[in-house]
Amino acid sequence: MTQQKQKQINLRIPGPTPVPPDILEAVGHPMINHRGGEFSAIVSRITAHLKAFFLTQQEVMVLTCSGTGGLEAAVVNVLSPGDKVLAVSIGSFGNRFATIAEVYGADVTMLAYDWGQAASADDVSKALKAEPDIKAVLVTHNETSTGVTNPLAEIAAVVRAADKLILVDAVSSLAAIPFEMDAWGLDVVVTGSQKGWMVPPGLAFVALSDRGWQAFDSARMPRFYFDLAKHRESQTKGQTPFTPAMSVFFGLDVALARMADEGLESIHTRHRRIGDMTRREVKALGLELFCEDERFASDTVTAVKAPDGIDVNALRTMMEDEHDTILAGGQARLSGKIFRIGHLGLVDEDDIRLTMDALAQSLEKLGFTRPTA
Ligand SMILES: *Cc1c(COP(=O)(O)O)cnc(C)c1O
Repeated sequence: MTQQKQKQINLRIPGPTPVPPDILEAVGHPMINHRGGEFSAIVSRITAHLKAFFLTQQEVMVLTCSGTGGLEAAVVNVLSPGDKVLAVSIGSFGNRFATIAEVYGADVTMLAYDWGQAASADDVSKALKAEPDIKAVLVTHNETSTGVTNPLAEIAAVVRAADKLILVDAVSSLAAIPFEMDAWGLDVVVTGSQKGWMVPPGLAFVALSDRGWQAFDSARMPRFYFDLAKHRESQTKGQTPFTPAMSVFFGLDVALARMADEGLESIHTRHRRIGDMTRREVKALGLELFCEDERFASDTVTAVKAPDGIDVNALRTMMEDEHDTILAGGQARLSGKIFRIGHLGLVDEDDIRLTMDALAQSLEKLGFTRPTA
């Protein structure tokens, strides 16, 4: 009843992303025994599908936590206190990854960029040469706070050449834009259910390479809930070591089948097309992208500079009140300076068209006039 009455909202934030009705219905499945056969069949199906999306032969562990829990799991399973780590940061999620490592006692060197820029493989290579005893590199694939995608394959290549570990935050990229764990030589990969996967928040997916598992054997940071060997062992029996967020598993089972039907390539093509369309329309409105070099503009989230004289909060409130369209603001130092349009997971051209119409009307009502060049 309430569901039917609920108005259609156009949720255009970079996570949580919209969940289609069939998946929402699956999420409402009654509870079953999490140690029983029905659930173990779901676990097996899910993990088999996830490998195909990570493009890995490794086991992908499904953890009950948000993406940040996955990042914490990445750090504590392969590092020891005192280990030297190079943290590549182009925004607030890059900083978060570095902070987690620091909190657990890693010796962190930052390779930080101005927000809006992408990292370069050359800089990473130089930083690794400057500090040869660095053990691991932390990098964000798609920086959700700035709408910039790092050239991950190139960065991974220089990290491989230097024989270091590479830990990747792929929370807002995996399953949406091209990503190849094994082919690119990535050692730890983390993503989260509420971004590209069309399911609610609550799960993180983590995989380790053979090098990652070797590092696991000697890693001494404290871990209990996130001990990945426990998760791997349980999963091979179709279980999880602790009670999982079963409802999200039910939804994910349906989501992954639907995504497999669409196909990885088609999903990537759709995100590319929608990303291009979003940027084109943003510029056509006379607005500026926050990303400095459009070659690195994200196909999952577009960050837009707040135009002079327009209050971002007023704009977002008007979009929500009058158009049922929800945009994200800027995080941390970007608060009030940008707004962000999420376009990952369940998104098509119509969603962007609606968003752009709402944006154009709201800007006009707030007195924005297209700058003349
Ligand atoms: C959303 C996100 C996270 C994790 O956030 P949670 O709120 O903990 O799920 C981490 N990194 C990136 C790049 C993200 O977009």
